[in-house]
Amino acid sequence: MSLVVMKFGGTSVEDPAAIARTAAIVAGRVAAGKQPVVVVSAMAKVTDQLLRAGSCAAQGDRTGALALSSRLRARHRDTAAALVKNPANCAALCDFIDQKFDSLDEVLRGLAAILELTPRISDLVVSYGERVSSRIVAAAFCERGMDAVHVDARDVIITDSQFQKAIPQDALIEKRAAEKLRPLINQGKVPVMGGFIGSNEDGITTTLGRGGSDFTGALLGGALTAAAIEIWTDVDGIMTCDPRVCPDALRVKVISFEEAAEMAYFGAKVLHPATILPAVKKNIPVLVLNSRNPSNEGTRIISLAPHCKSPFKSIAVKKKLSIIDVVASRMLMTHGYLSQIFAIFDKHKCPVDMVSTSEVSVSLTVDSNDKLPAIAADLSQLADVKYEGKKALVCMVGEDIRGQNGIAAQVFAAIRHINVRMISQGASEINMSFMIDEDDADEAVRSLHAAFFQDPDPEIFDVEARKPAVEAAR
Ligand code: ADP
Ligand code: ASP
Ligand code: MG
Repeated sequence: MSLVVMKFGGTSVEDPAAIARTAAIVAGRVAAGKQPVVVVSAMAKVTDQLLRAGSCAAQGDRTGALALSSRLRARHRDTAAALVKNPANCAALCDFIDQKFDSLDEVLRGLAAILELTPRISDLVVSYGERVSSRIVAAAFCERGMDAVHVDARDVIITDSQFQKAIPQDALIEKRAAEKLRPLINQGKVPVMGGFIGSNEDGITTTLGRGGSDFTGALLGGALTAAAIEIWTDVDGIMTCDPRVCPDALRVKVISFEEAAEMAYFGAKVLHPATILPAVKKNIPVLVLNSRNPSNEGTRIISLAPHCKSPFKSIAVKKKLSIIDVVASRMLMTHGYLSQIFAIFDKHKCPVDMVSTSEVSVSLTVDSNDKLPAIAADLSQLADVKYEGKKALVCMVGEDIRGQNGIAAQVFAAIRHINVRMISQGASEINMSFMIDEDDADEAVRSLHAAFFQDPDPEIFDVEARKPAVEAAR
Protein backbone atom coordinates (compact mmCIF):
# COMPACT_ATOMS: atom_id res chain seq x y z
CA MET A 1 0.00 0.00 0.00
CA SER A 2 1.28 3.45 -0.72
CA LEU A 3 1.55 6.04 2.00
CA VAL A 4 0.44 9.54 1.14
CA VAL A 5 0.73 12.65 3.29
CA MET A 6 -2.29 14.90 2.70
CA LYS A 7 -2.08 18.50 3.96
CA PHE A 8 -5.24 20.59 4.04
CA GLY A 9 -4.94 24.39 4.35
CA GLY A 10 -7.14 26.79 6.33
CA THR A 11 -9.82 27.16 3.66
CA SER A 12 -10.10 23.35 3.38
CA VAL A 13 -11.13 23.23 7.07
CA GLU A 14 -12.80 26.65 7.35
CA ASP A 15 -16.31 25.43 8.26
CA PRO A 16 -18.35 22.22 8.59
CA ALA A 17 -18.96 22.00 4.81
CA ALA A 18 -15.24 22.32 4.05
CA ILE A 19 -14.32 19.72 6.69
CA ALA A 20 -16.96 17.36 5.27
CA ARG A 21 -15.41 17.81 1.78
CA THR A 22 -11.97 17.12 3.24
CA ALA A 23 -13.28 13.97 4.94
CA ALA A 24 -14.73 12.76 1.63
CA ILE A 25 -11.39 13.34 -0.14
CA VAL A 26 -9.46 11.36 2.50
CA ALA A 27 -12.08 8.60 2.55
CA GLY A 28 -11.67 8.39 -1.24
CA ARG A 29 -7.92 7.78 -0.81
CA VAL A 30 -8.59 5.07 1.81
CA ALA A 31 -11.11 3.42 -0.52
CA ALA A 32 -8.46 3.46 -3.26
CA GLY A 33 -6.15 1.44 -0.98
CA LYS A 34 -3.85 4.31 0.08
CA GLN A 35 -2.57 4.95 3.59
CA PRO A 36 -3.15 8.64 4.30
CA VAL A 37 -1.43 10.67 7.02
CA VAL A 38 -3.37 13.91 7.37
CA VAL A 39 -2.04 17.35 8.34
CA VAL A 40 -4.40 20.29 8.80
CA SER A 41 -4.01 24.01 9.29
CA ALA A 42 -6.03 26.08 11.72
CA MET A 43 -9.48 27.02 10.39
CA ALA A 44 -9.21 29.96 7.94
CA LYS A 45 -8.20 33.28 9.58
CA VAL A 46 -7.86 31.71 13.06
CA THR A 47 -4.07 32.18 13.20
CA ASP A 48 -4.46 35.92 12.48
CA GLN A 49 -7.17 36.22 15.12
CA LEU A 50 -5.09 34.42 17.74
CA LEU A 51 -2.14 36.70 17.01
CA ARG A 52 -4.47 39.68 17.40
CA ALA A 53 -5.76 38.33 20.73
CA GLY A 54 -2.17 37.92 21.95
CA SER A 55 -1.15 41.43 20.99
CA CYS A 56 -4.38 42.95 22.41
CA ALA A 57 -3.70 41.23 25.72
CA ALA A 58 -0.06 42.33 25.80
CA GLN A 59 -1.20 45.92 25.21
CA GLY A 60 -3.40 45.69 28.27
CA ASP A 61 -6.72 45.17 26.45
CA ARG A 62 -7.74 42.14 28.49
CA THR A 63 -11.44 42.44 27.61
CA GLY A 64 -10.77 42.73 23.88
CA ALA A 65 -8.43 39.72 23.92
CA LEU A 66 -10.89 37.55 25.86
CA ALA A 67 -13.73 38.61 23.53
CA LEU A 68 -11.69 37.45 20.51
CA SER A 69 -10.98 34.15 22.23
CA SER A 70 -14.63 33.70 23.13
CA ARG A 71 -15.68 34.21 19.48
CA LEU A 72 -13.12 31.61 18.42
CA ARG A 73 -14.34 29.18 21.07
CA ALA A 74 -17.92 29.56 19.78
CA ARG A 75 -16.82 29.07 16.14
CA HIS A 76 -14.99 25.85 17.02
CA ARG A 77 -17.81 24.54 19.20
CA ASP A 78 -20.40 25.27 16.48
CA THR A 79 -18.25 23.52 13.89
CA ALA A 80 -17.83 20.49 16.17
CA ALA A 81 -21.58 20.30 16.85
CA ALA A 82 -22.42 20.52 13.14
CA LEU A 83 -20.02 17.71 12.25
CA VAL A 84 -20.29 15.22 15.11
CA LYS A 85 -23.82 13.99 15.70
CA ASN A 86 -23.00 11.16 18.10
CA PRO A 87 -23.86 12.83 21.47
CA ALA A 88 -21.05 11.24 23.52
CA ASN A 89 -18.42 12.00 20.87
CA CYS A 90 -19.71 15.54 20.45
CA ALA A 91 -19.62 16.14 24.23
CA ALA A 92 -16.05 14.82 24.45
CA LEU A 93 -14.99 17.04 21.56
CA CYS A 94 -16.64 20.14 23.02
CA ASP A 95 -14.98 19.40 26.39
CA PHE A 96 -11.62 19.25 24.64
CA ILE A 97 -12.33 22.59 22.91
CA ASP A 98 -13.40 24.18 26.21
CA GLN A 99 -10.29 22.96 28.01
CA LYS A 100 -8.06 24.41 25.30
CA PHE A 101 -9.85 27.77 25.28
CA ASP A 102 -9.84 27.87 29.10
CA SER A 103 -6.08 27.51 29.06
CA LEU A 104 -5.72 30.04 26.22
CA ASP A 105 -7.77 32.51 28.32
CA GLU A 106 -5.38 31.99 31.21
CA VAL A 107 -2.43 32.78 28.97
CA LEU A 108 -4.21 35.92 27.70
CA ARG A 109 -4.96 37.09 31.25
CA GLY A 110 -1.31 36.53 32.12
CA LEU A 111 -0.21 38.58 29.10
CA ALA A 112 -2.57 41.40 30.09
CA ALA A 113 -0.94 41.40 33.52
CA ILE A 114 2.68 41.37 32.41
CA LEU A 115 2.12 43.46 29.26
CA GLU A 116 4.71 41.63 27.20
CA LEU A 117 4.40 39.12 24.37
CA THR A 118 7.61 37.16 23.80
CA PRO A 119 8.13 35.05 20.64
CA ARG A 120 7.85 31.95 22.83
CA ILE A 121 4.44 32.92 24.22
CA SER A 122 3.28 34.06 20.79
CA ASP A 123 3.96 30.53 19.51
CA LEU A 124 1.99 29.09 22.41
CA VAL A 125 -0.95 31.42 21.69
CA VAL A 126 -1.14 30.61 17.94
CA SER A 127 -0.67 26.87 18.52
CA TYR A 128 -4.27 26.59 19.77
CA GLY A 129 -5.54 27.07 16.21
CA GLU A 130 -3.98 23.86 14.86
CA ARG A 131 -4.44 22.00 18.14
CA VAL A 132 -8.21 22.38 18.04
CA SER A 133 -8.75 22.20 14.27
CA SER A 134 -6.90 18.86 14.04
CA ARG A 135 -8.92 17.38 16.91
CA ILE A 136 -12.21 18.44 15.25
CA VAL A 137 -11.12 17.04 11.88
CA ALA A 138 -10.11 13.71 13.47
CA ALA A 139 -13.54 13.45 15.15
CA ALA A 140 -15.31 14.33 11.91
CA PHE A 141 -13.36 11.57 10.11
CA CYS A 142 -14.38 9.02 12.80
CA GLU A 143 -18.00 10.13 12.53
CA ARG A 144 -17.80 9.37 8.80
CA GLY A 145 -16.56 5.84 9.37
CA MET A 146 -12.79 6.30 9.10
CA ASP A 147 -10.48 4.89 11.74
CA ALA A 148 -8.85 8.27 12.45
CA VAL A 149 -6.58 9.02 15.42
CA HIS A 150 -5.61 12.49 16.56
CA VAL A 151 -1.87 12.91 17.16
CA ASP A 152 -0.40 15.98 18.86
CA ALA A 153 2.03 17.41 16.28
CA ARG A 154 4.28 18.58 19.11
CA ASP A 155 5.12 14.95 19.89
CA VAL A 156 6.44 14.44 16.35
CA ILE A 157 7.72 17.71 14.88
CA ILE A 158 10.79 18.39 17.00
CA THR A 159 12.52 21.70 16.31
CA ASP A 160 15.21 23.94 17.70
CA SER A 161 14.19 26.86 19.93
CA GLN A 162 13.99 29.67 17.37
CA PHE A 163 10.45 30.58 18.25
CA GLN A 164 8.22 31.79 15.38
CA LYS A 165 10.55 30.28 12.75
CA ALA A 166 11.88 27.13 14.35
CA ILE A 167 14.21 24.82 12.43
CA PRO A 168 13.00 21.21 12.29
CA GLN A 169 15.37 18.51 13.54
CA ASP A 170 15.12 15.91 10.79
CA ALA A 171 16.69 12.96 12.63
CA LEU A 172 14.46 13.44 15.68
CA ILE A 173 11.36 13.86 13.53
CA GLU A 174 12.17 10.64 11.70
CA LYS A 175 12.57 8.84 15.04
CA ARG A 176 9.32 10.25 16.45
CA ALA A 177 7.42 9.50 13.23
CA ALA A 178 8.63 5.90 13.44
CA GLU A 179 7.54 5.67 17.10
CA LYS A 180 4.27 7.61 17.06
CA LEU A 181 2.89 7.35 13.53
CA ARG A 182 4.20 4.16 11.98
CA PRO A 183 2.40 1.81 14.43
CA LEU A 184 -0.91 3.61 13.73
CA ILE A 185 -0.35 3.41 9.98
CA ASN A 186 0.50 -0.30 10.26
CA GLN A 187 -2.80 -0.87 12.06
CA GLY A 188 -4.64 0.77 9.15
CA LYS A 189 -5.49 3.91 11.15
CA VAL A 190 -5.47 7.43 9.71
CA PRO A 191 -3.32 9.77 11.85
CA VAL A 192 -4.52 13.40 11.89
CA MET A 193 -2.15 16.14 13.06
CA GLY A 194 -2.03 19.91 13.15
CA GLY A 195 0.51 21.54 10.84
CA PHE A 196 2.72 24.54 11.61
CA ILE A 197 3.36 23.66 15.28
CA GLY A 198 6.09 21.63 16.91
CA SER A 199 8.08 21.59 20.10
CA ASN A 200 11.69 21.84 21.10
CA GLU A 201 13.43 18.96 22.87
CA ASP A 202 12.18 20.27 26.23
CA GLY A 203 8.58 20.03 25.03
CA ILE A 204 8.11 23.81 24.69
CA THR A 205 5.74 24.72 21.83
CA THR A 206 7.32 26.24 18.70
CA THR A 207 6.06 27.11 15.20
CA LEU A 208 7.61 26.78 11.75
CA GLY A 209 6.65 30.28 10.56
CA ARG A 210 3.53 31.53 8.79
CA GLY A 211 2.18 29.16 6.16
CA GLY A 212 4.22 26.40 7.83
CA SER A 213 1.64 23.61 7.61
CA ASP A 214 2.87 22.84 4.08
CA PHE A 215 6.31 22.37 5.62
CA THR A 216 4.90 19.97 8.26
CA GLY A 217 3.32 17.92 5.46
CA ALA A 218 6.62 17.75 3.61
CA LEU A 219 8.62 16.92 6.75
CA LEU A 220 6.31 14.00 7.49
CA GLY A 221 6.42 12.90 3.85
CA GLY A 222 10.21 12.84 4.11
CA ALA A 223 10.31 11.16 7.53
CA LEU A 224 7.90 8.41 6.45
CA THR A 225 9.28 8.17 2.87
CA ALA A 226 5.78 8.73 1.50
CA ALA A 227 4.91 7.89 -2.10
CA ALA A 228 3.50 11.42 -2.50
CA ILE A 229 2.92 14.64 -0.58
CA GLU A 230 -0.40 16.28 -1.42
CA ILE A 231 -0.99 19.96 -0.63
CA TRP A 232 -4.76 20.59 -0.75
CA THR A 233 -5.71 24.26 -1.07
CA ASP A 234 -8.35 26.58 -2.58
CA VAL A 235 -7.02 26.87 -6.15
CA ASP A 236 -6.53 24.26 -8.88
CA GLY A 237 -2.77 24.05 -8.32
CA ILE A 238 0.23 26.23 -8.96
CA MET A 239 -0.91 28.82 -11.44
CA THR A 240 1.02 30.98 -13.89
CA CYS A 241 0.49 33.83 -11.41
CA ASP A 242 -1.71 34.63 -8.41
CA PRO A 243 -5.26 34.12 -9.78
CA ARG A 244 -6.47 36.90 -7.47
CA VAL A 245 -4.32 39.35 -9.39
CA CYS A 246 -4.91 38.02 -12.89
CA PRO A 247 -8.04 35.96 -13.52
CA ASP A 248 -6.44 34.65 -16.75
CA ALA A 249 -3.92 32.65 -14.70
CA LEU A 250 -3.49 29.10 -16.02
CA ARG A 251 -2.83 25.95 -14.04
CA VAL A 252 0.72 24.69 -14.44
CA LYS A 253 0.37 20.92 -14.91
CA VAL A 254 3.96 20.03 -14.12
CA ILE A 255 6.86 21.98 -12.67
CA SER A 256 10.32 21.06 -11.34
CA PHE A 257 11.30 21.10 -7.66
CA GLU A 258 13.78 23.87 -8.46
CA GLU A 259 11.18 26.07 -10.16
CA ALA A 260 8.57 25.51 -7.45
CA ALA A 261 11.08 26.35 -4.71
CA GLU A 262 12.07 29.54 -6.50
CA MET A 263 8.42 30.57 -6.89
CA ALA A 264 7.60 29.86 -3.29
CA TYR A 265 10.64 31.72 -2.04
CA PHE A 266 9.79 34.71 -4.21
CA GLY A 267 6.31 35.08 -2.85
CA ALA A 268 3.83 32.62 -4.40
CA LYS A 269 1.79 32.00 -1.28
CA VAL A 270 0.42 28.71 -2.59
CA LEU A 271 3.46 26.86 -1.20
CA HIS A 272 5.64 27.50 1.86
CA PRO A 273 9.23 27.95 0.58
CA ALA A 274 10.68 25.14 2.71
CA THR A 275 8.16 22.55 1.49
CA ILE A 276 10.30 21.37 -1.37
CA LEU A 277 13.44 20.51 0.63
CA PRO A 278 12.29 17.29 2.34
CA ALA A 279 10.67 16.18 -0.93
CA VAL A 280 13.86 16.75 -2.92
CA LYS A 281 15.95 14.82 -0.41
CA LYS A 282 13.94 11.67 -1.01
CA ASN A 283 12.66 12.51 -4.50
CA ILE A 284 9.01 12.42 -3.39
CA PRO A 285 6.55 14.02 -5.84
CA VAL A 286 4.50 16.91 -4.42
CA LEU A 287 0.99 17.51 -5.75
CA VAL A 288 -0.91 20.76 -5.29
CA LEU A 289 -4.65 20.10 -5.43
CA ASN A 290 -7.96 21.92 -4.95
CA SER A 291 -10.20 20.64 -2.15
CA ARG A 292 -13.16 22.46 -3.78
CA ASN A 293 -12.49 20.76 -7.11
CA PRO A 294 -10.92 17.41 -6.16
CA SER A 295 -11.29 15.79 -9.57
CA ASN A 296 -8.91 18.33 -11.10
CA GLU A 297 -5.44 16.81 -11.53
CA GLY A 298 -3.65 19.84 -9.96
CA THR A 299 0.06 20.52 -10.28
CA ARG A 300 2.72 17.86 -10.09
CA ILE A 301 6.10 18.96 -8.73
CA ILE A 302 8.84 16.53 -9.73
CA SER A 303 12.60 16.51 -10.04
CA LEU A 304 12.78 16.79 -13.83
CA ALA A 305 10.00 18.67 -15.59
CA PRO A 306 9.53 18.22 -19.35
CA HIS A 307 10.83 20.91 -21.67
CA CYS A 308 8.46 23.84 -22.09
CA LYS A 309 8.09 25.79 -25.34
CA SER A 310 7.66 29.13 -23.59
CA PRO A 311 10.43 30.53 -21.40
CA PHE A 312 8.48 31.04 -18.17
CA LYS A 313 6.27 28.82 -16.02
CA SER A 314 5.11 31.36 -13.50
CA ILE A 315 5.29 34.91 -12.18
CA ALA A 316 5.66 35.35 -8.42
CA VAL A 317 5.49 38.58 -6.44
CA LYS A 318 6.83 39.37 -3.02
CA LYS A 319 5.46 42.57 -1.52
CA LYS A 320 6.26 44.61 1.61
CA LEU A 321 9.94 44.89 0.76
CA SER A 322 12.37 47.76 1.30
CA ILE A 323 15.35 48.84 -0.77
CA ILE A 324 18.44 50.01 1.05
CA ASP A 325 20.95 52.01 -0.97
CA VAL A 326 24.46 52.23 0.47
CA VAL A 327 26.68 54.73 -1.36
CA ALA A 328 30.29 55.29 -0.42
CA SER A 329 32.64 56.97 -2.84
CA ARG A 330 35.41 56.84 -0.27
CA MET A 331 35.27 53.05 -0.43
CA LEU A 332 36.31 53.12 -4.08
CA MET A 333 38.77 50.32 -4.81
CA THR A 334 39.00 49.13 -1.22
CA HIS A 335 38.37 45.50 -0.34
CA GLY A 336 36.27 43.96 2.40
CA TYR A 337 33.52 46.53 1.91
CA LEU A 338 30.77 44.08 1.00
CA SER A 339 31.65 41.78 3.85
CA GLN A 340 31.34 44.69 6.29
CA ILE A 341 27.91 45.49 4.90
CA PHE A 342 26.74 41.90 5.14
CA ALA A 343 28.15 41.57 8.66
CA ILE A 344 25.70 44.29 9.70
CA PHE A 345 22.72 42.46 8.19
CA ASP A 346 23.97 39.31 9.87
CA LYS A 347 24.24 41.03 13.24
CA HIS A 348 20.58 42.06 12.96
CA LYS A 349 19.58 38.56 11.71
CA CYS A 350 18.05 40.20 8.65
CA PRO A 351 18.04 38.09 5.46
CA VAL A 352 18.77 39.92 2.19
CA ASP A 353 16.68 39.00 -0.89
CA MET A 354 18.46 40.70 -3.74
CA VAL A 355 21.71 42.62 -4.14
CA SER A 356 23.06 44.82 -6.88
CA THR A 357 26.48 46.43 -6.68
CA SER A 358 28.62 48.90 -8.53
CA GLU A 359 32.01 50.30 -7.66
CA VAL A 360 30.58 52.85 -5.24
CA SER A 361 27.11 51.73 -4.38
CA VAL A 362 25.31 48.68 -3.13
CA SER A 363 21.54 48.26 -3.21
CA LEU A 364 19.95 45.54 -1.15
CA THR A 365 16.38 44.46 -0.63
CA VAL A 366 14.94 43.06 2.58
CA ASP A 367 11.52 42.38 4.06
CA SER A 368 10.25 45.65 5.54
CA ASN A 369 10.78 45.26 9.25
CA ASP A 370 11.24 47.26 12.42
CA LYS A 371 15.00 46.58 12.50
CA LEU A 372 15.60 48.83 9.48
CA PRO A 373 16.35 52.05 11.41
CA ALA A 374 18.94 50.21 13.53
CA ILE A 375 20.48 48.57 10.44
CA ALA A 376 20.61 51.93 8.65
CA ALA A 377 22.26 53.50 11.69
CA ASP A 378 24.96 50.81 11.68
CA LEU A 379 25.45 51.09 7.90
CA SER A 380 25.79 54.85 8.13
CA GLN A 381 29.07 54.30 10.01
CA LEU A 382 30.39 52.96 6.67
CA ALA A 383 28.63 55.03 4.04
CA ASP A 384 25.64 57.16 3.08
CA VAL A 385 22.45 55.20 3.53
CA LYS A 386 18.93 55.64 2.20
CA TYR A 387 16.07 53.24 2.58
CA GLU A 388 12.63 53.17 1.08
CA GLY A 389 9.68 50.82 1.75
CA LYS A 390 6.57 49.76 -0.21
CA LYS A 391 8.54 47.89 -2.85
CA ALA A 392 7.70 44.63 -4.59
CA LEU A 393 9.93 42.00 -6.15
CA VAL A 394 8.56 40.41 -9.31
CA CYS A 395 10.15 37.10 -10.15
CA MET A 396 9.74 35.34 -13.50
CA VAL A 397 10.48 31.64 -13.05
CA GLY A 398 11.27 29.04 -15.68
CA GLU A 399 14.03 26.55 -16.39
CA ASP A 400 13.73 27.26 -20.07
CA ILE A 401 15.11 30.80 -19.82
CA ARG A 402 18.53 29.17 -19.68
CA GLY A 403 20.47 30.17 -22.72
CA GLN A 404 17.57 31.87 -24.57
CA ASN A 405 18.42 35.13 -26.31
CA GLY A 406 16.36 38.29 -26.06
CA ILE A 407 14.27 37.27 -23.05
CA ALA A 408 15.26 40.28 -20.94
CA ALA A 409 14.31 42.61 -23.80
CA GLN A 410 10.87 40.99 -24.01
CA VAL A 411 10.34 41.21 -20.24
CA PHE A 412 11.24 44.86 -20.00
CA ALA A 413 9.33 45.75 -23.16
CA ALA A 414 6.20 44.28 -21.55
CA ILE A 415 6.58 46.61 -18.56
CA ARG A 416 8.09 49.59 -20.35
CA HIS A 417 5.52 51.84 -18.66
CA ILE A 418 6.73 50.86 -15.19
CA ASN A 419 9.75 52.22 -13.35
CA VAL A 420 12.19 49.41 -12.48
CA ARG A 421 14.49 50.03 -9.52
CA MET A 422 16.73 46.95 -9.45
CA ILE A 423 17.28 43.96 -11.72
CA SER A 424 18.78 40.54 -11.13
CA GLN A 425 19.03 37.45 -13.24
CA GLY A 426 19.51 34.64 -10.75
CA ALA A 427 22.69 32.63 -10.77
CA SER A 428 20.41 29.59 -10.84
CA GLU A 429 19.45 30.75 -14.35
CA ILE A 430 15.85 29.89 -13.68
CA ASN A 431 14.65 33.25 -12.53
CA MET A 432 14.71 36.82 -13.65
CA SER A 433 13.67 39.29 -10.98
CA PHE A 434 13.21 42.98 -10.66
CA MET A 435 12.11 45.46 -8.06
CA ILE A 436 9.32 47.99 -8.56
CA ASP A 437 6.95 50.08 -6.46
CA GLU A 438 4.38 47.95 -4.67
CA ASP A 439 1.56 49.98 -6.24
CA ASP A 440 2.73 48.95 -9.74
CA ALA A 441 3.02 45.22 -8.94
CA ASP A 442 -0.43 44.00 -9.98
CA GLU A 443 -0.31 45.95 -13.24
CA ALA A 444 3.18 44.55 -13.98
CA VAL A 445 1.98 40.99 -13.41
CA ARG A 446 -0.99 41.46 -15.73
CA SER A 447 1.18 42.97 -18.49
CA LEU A 448 3.80 40.23 -18.19
CA HIS A 449 1.12 37.55 -18.12
CA ALA A 450 -0.45 38.94 -21.29
CA ALA A 451 2.97 39.01 -22.98
CA PHE A 452 4.23 35.55 -22.03
CA PHE A 453 1.15 33.34 -21.62
CA GLN A 454 -0.70 34.23 -24.81
CA ASP A 455 0.12 30.96 -26.56
CA PRO A 456 0.81 28.49 -23.74
CA ASP A 457 2.40 25.07 -24.29
CA PRO A 458 -0.46 22.55 -23.78
CA GLU A 459 2.01 19.97 -22.44
CA ILE A 460 2.76 22.20 -19.46
CA PHE A 461 -0.28 24.42 -18.97
CA ASP A 462 -3.98 23.64 -18.68
CA VAL A 463 -5.14 25.43 -21.82
CA GLU A 464 -8.52 23.66 -21.72
CA ALA A 465 -9.59 25.83 -18.79
CA ARG A 466 -9.10 28.95 -20.90
CA LYS A 467 -11.13 27.76 -23.91
CA PRO A 468 -14.64 28.59 -22.59
CA ALA A 469 -13.57 32.17 -21.80
CA VAL A 470 -11.92 32.58 -25.21
CA GLU A 471 -15.00 31.18 -26.96
CA ALA A 472 -17.33 33.40 -24.94
CA ALA A 473 -15.28 36.42 -26.01
CA ARG A 474 -15.72 35.58 -29.73
P1 ADP B 1 -3.79 27.37 2.29
O1 ADP B 1 -4.57 28.01 3.38
O2 ADP B 1 -4.49 26.22 1.63
O3 ADP B 1 -2.39 27.06 2.69
P2 ADP B 1 -2.86 29.78 1.00
O4 ADP B 1 -3.78 30.94 1.13
O5 ADP B 1 -1.66 29.72 1.87
O6 ADP B 1 -3.72 28.45 1.13
O7 ADP B 1 -2.38 29.66 -0.53
C1 ADP B 1 -3.32 29.61 -1.58
C2 ADP B 1 -3.43 30.98 -2.24
O8 ADP B 1 -2.18 31.32 -2.84
C3 ADP B 1 -4.40 31.03 -3.39
O9 ADP B 1 -5.71 31.30 -2.97
C4 ADP B 1 -3.82 32.15 -4.28
O10 ADP B 1 -4.52 33.37 -4.13
C5 ADP B 1 -2.42 32.36 -3.76
N1 ADP B 1 -1.40 32.29 -4.81
C6 ADP B 1 -0.41 33.18 -4.99
N2 ADP B 1 0.34 32.88 -6.04
C7 ADP B 1 -0.18 31.75 -6.59
C8 ADP B 1 0.16 30.94 -7.71
N3 ADP B 1 1.20 31.20 -8.51
N4 ADP B 1 -0.58 29.84 -7.93
C9 ADP B 1 -1.63 29.53 -7.14
N5 ADP B 1 -2.01 30.28 -6.07
C10 ADP B 1 -1.30 31.37 -5.79
N1 ASP C 1 -2.15 28.42 10.33
C1 ASP C 1 -0.82 28.84 9.97
C2 ASP C 1 -0.86 30.17 9.25
O1 ASP C 1 -1.93 30.70 8.99
C3 ASP C 1 -0.07 27.81 9.19
C4 ASP C 1 -0.67 27.43 7.86
O2 ASP C 1 -1.85 27.61 7.62
O3 ASP C 1 0.08 26.91 7.02
O4 ASP C 1 0.18 30.72 8.98
MG1 MG D 1 -0.62 28.23 2.94
